[in-house]
Amino acid sequence: MKSPQSVAIVGAGPAASTLAALLAQRGVRTVVFDDGKRPELLVGESLIPAVVPLLRRLGIEERTAAISQWKPGVSFLHGEATPIHFNFAPIAPWPTYAYNVDRRKFDELLKARAQELGAVFVSCRAGVVKAGAATGRQLALDEASLAEAPSLQNKQPDLLVDATGRSRLFARLLQVGARRGGRDDVAYFAHYEGFAMPEPAGQVLIARLDQGWSWRIPLPGKLSVGIVINKERARQLGGTAEERLEKALQVEPLMAEAARGARRVSPVAAYTNYQWVSDGSSGPGWAAVGDAFGFVDPMLSSGLFLAMESAAQLDAALQKGTLLKSYDQEMRRWYGAWNELIGYFYDGRLFSLYEAGHQMRQKRTNPVQHAIDRILIKHIAGLTSGASTRSIRSRWLLKAAVGLLIHKVKAPQELAIR
Ligand SMILES: Cc1cc2nc3c(=O)[nH]c(=O)nc-3n(C[C@H](O)[C@H](O)[C@H](O)COP(=O)(O)OP(=O)(O)OC[C@H]3O[C@@H](n4cnc5c(N)ncnc54)[C@H](O)[C@@H]3O)c2cc1C
Repeated sequence: MKSPQSVAIVGAGPAASTLAALLAQRGVRTVVFDDGKRPELLVGESLIPAVVPLLRRLGIEERTAAISQWKPGVSFLHGEATPIHFNFAPIAPWPTYAYNVDRRKFDELLKARAQELGAVFVSCRAGVVKAGAATGRQLALDEASLAEAPSLQNKQPDLLVDATGRSRLFARLLQVGARRGGRDDVAYFAHYEGFAMPEPAGQVLIARLDQGWSWRIPLPGKLSVGIVINKERARQLGGTAEERLEKALQVEPLMAEAARGARRVSPVAAYTNYQWVSDGSSGPGWAAVGDAFGFVDPMLSSGLFLAMESAAQLDAALQKGTLLKSYDQEMRRWYGAWNELIGYFYDGRLFSLYEAGHQMRQKRTNPVQHAIDRILIKHIAGLTSGASTRSIRSRWLLKAAVGLLIHKVKAPQELAIR
């Protein structure tokens, strides 16, 4: 397609603001419709190292660091298997750290940066309608929305972008389907003080629960604690979101000790947690970014990276004037690779593999085995940090290691997340 001169983006989350900043930076007239619906507590607080190059590109790493907790790695706790402690050191020369952010402040920062670079934000909920066949576009802003954005000079933009997150506004209007993932969970989370803080400082903890899993994300001065469980288990825990989260903190062995003496300092937020990838990400005159295109299970904190990366990929495709098919394919590779990796955690294979490595380390076996262990840890760190998630070599190595090494340890199905 011809490189657009004017773009209107619907939604003002991380995907929208990243795209707006990149477009405005190279002189494209950009308007963002922001419905201002940002609750006190916003999910998606842990970033992965692959976000850091994007922050640098936007020129906001220092400002991000100022509102964040430094994140050196992630630990996976499992009642019946050896805990896995990853740090990101092995992924150098990639950034060997990430940040845990207050999401409201982070979204505000991205928005402020896009505005500094020249993007115009309009405070209103955009109305989008199907366009007539003669217009050469499938969708258009309604008249009221056009009137709210004087910089569009009462003309439809060359491109409309759906960044409405899981509302998938354009896909719903056009009845574009989506491929759903295997899980249909619900998440409850809140901020706490007085919780035992993970070590080293900033380390994110993911713990397997009796059913489902939980997160602990250290933020400046507090801890974000969440559970992700199936709906039946949620009902067993209580009638309200508060009761369900509080009960899980009392009864789950991997949480109860750390939660003793903890005080909740925010309301409890509830989110449904189901995965999808949209069947189509663009059409005549429109494209989708971020969650509006695809949403991957959040266990490995890939959401903000994917939202921002999709914006960068779309911007690159628009700049080159290439077909948006290449953008679509690039992003599908990302979703596929993350889904594949997350599968190793859910079905227990990664815990079995780590168990096998642990046994090798305990036995102080030969240097070749030590070398294999080091190489595996480096590749798994690369996969989980976003540095090499799509790498054929790393994915092949992980698959081969699982095939070869897990015979003498607990079977993956015993360690799977239910
Ligand atoms: C349980 C759970 C845990 C998660 N944990 C993490 C994590 O630790 N790390 C991580 O990176 N990601 C995490 N995520 C994912 C992350 O939150 C999302 O991937 C990310 O917010 C997507 O950004 P986005 O810009 O695409 O959409 P959003 O952040 O959803 O932004 C969309 C915006 O569009 C606005 N909007 C909608 N309709 C309109 C309209 N008509 N007009 C104007 N505005 C409109 C909405 O109000 C919203 O502000 C998690 C998600 C879940 C469900």
